[in-house]
Amino acid sequence: MSNLNSEYQKIISDIEKNITDPKDLSYIKEKISELATLFMNTVDRVIEYSKENLNNVSNKQEDLEERVESIQKSLDNLEKEMYSEEEEDFEVEVICPYCNHQFSSNIDLEDTTEIQCPECKNMIELDWNDEDDEEQCKRKLSSDVTSVWTKKVKMMKTRICKSNLIS
Ligand SMILES: [Zn+2]
Repeated sequence: MSNLNSEYQKIISDIEKNITDPKDLSYIKEKISELATLFMNTVDRVIEYSKENLNNVSNKQEDLEERVESIQKSLDNLEKEMYSEEEEDFEVEVICPYCNHQFSSNIDLEDTTEIQCPECKNMIELDWNDEDDEEQCKRKLSSDVTSVWTKKVKMMKTRICKSNLIS
């Protein structure tokens, strides 16, 4: 700005040197001043406009970031949901205690207590034991005909074994 000021002063003093008539000089100086004001106002408006644009971009950016965050949250929730559903739903291999038919079945660990054998149509009762009943379950398994077992169930240290046959 100071550079602009000194340039302006140089122009003015140059005009003063070359215009000898005081009336002409006064008139030209006035017009130059008007021109300078007009120019400075235009510059101010351009700067103001740029600031506004920058603010708009910044606001939009913030808005976008919020949206991305919200989408990320939804995705996380969805992932959790899918993961937990995957955990609850197991494919187990069942050997029917009635006819020895072996089949796979998708069961819900929480709710399923019976599976129907697709071969003999008998209902096979499932008994969900926790860690404490593991020994009991093992005994049952070794002495019993039925074993319902999956790698996943083993991994989760959940034991499934058949308790009573339904006649
Ligand atoms: Zn069967």
